[in-house]
Amino acid sequence: MTSENKVAVITGAASGIGRALAVHYARQGVRSVIGTFPGDPHDPEETLRLVKEARGEAVIQEVDVRSSGSVDVFAQRAVDVYGRLDYAVANAGILRNSPLGEMTDERWNDMLNVDLTGVLRTLRSGAARMTEGGSMVAVSSIAGGVYGWEGHSHYAAAKAGLLGLIRSVAVELGPRRIRANAVIPGLIETPQSLDPVNSLGPEGLRRAGDDIPWGRVGKPEEVASVIGFLTSDDSRYVTGQSLIVDGGLTVKMRA
Ligand code: NAD
Repeated sequence: MTSENKVAVITGAASGIGRALAVHYARQGVRSVIGTFPGDPHDPEETLRLVKEARGEAVIQEVDVRSSGSVDVFAQRAVDVYGRLDYAVANAGILRNSPLGEMTDERWNDMLNVDLTGVLRTLRSGAARMTEGGSMVAVSSIAGGVYGWEGHSHYAAAKAGLLGLIRSVAVELGPRRIRANAVIPGLIETPQSLDPVNSLGPEGLRRAGDDIPWGRVGKPEEVASVIGFLTSDDSRYVTGQSLIVDGGLTVKMRA
């Protein structure tokens, strides 16, 4: 790798879609800052090992997207280590099950602080360090991005809200030739969806897979490669858009 190789920051890259993206970038010659949240059990060293196996380059940086200072330090790590920042991916997210009757202000605010304001912080810190050709992607969800989901109104509100954020940032940063887009994943097998309390769990995912036109739930790599496309120059005239990655789940008519 040389100083010409592009550099990405990815929040929540110690697991799931973020980990798969770091590996995807390694294969594309994009260097990464692997964002890891210390409060979680995921191992960022495993992401780094997979990046190295793919002959890539990356460094690990702790980041808590609830803190503007932490996100600034995170984005700055790319500049300090590699001398540039080209891509920022706001992937970190949490999912909690909370019916409306139990939706305290605290639960609501905790969710939005990560899944919506955390995205703002990542885009803001990223854009401040990017030059022409920079590109940012936020990870939404079909829950909120397309559908409602009982017990998850705060999550859905955050995932819908970030689509408006992305459109506005795209308009604002267009003159600087910095792009902003979103992906809207369907059901993807990751630690988040495998959690049977807050999400579908293994059995729920298997059952849901039978009803997806593609015949199964998605793999993290199948979202990562779309994020890779949306940050790459192959999509250089695409900005302010969102792309659903769901194996046909949302276009299937149910009687
Ligand atoms: P995941 O749980 O493996 O990844 C989420 C990551 O976010 C974790 O690594 C976690 O440590 C990190 N994180 C949590 N709180 C954080 C904080 N305060 N600061 C920084 N990082 C924090 O699950 P995933 O499915 O790979 O999730 C990635 C994104 O995809 C999330 O935004 C999620 O909502 C979204 N998504 C997932 C699915 C799915 O079916 N798995 C569907 C739609 C959208």
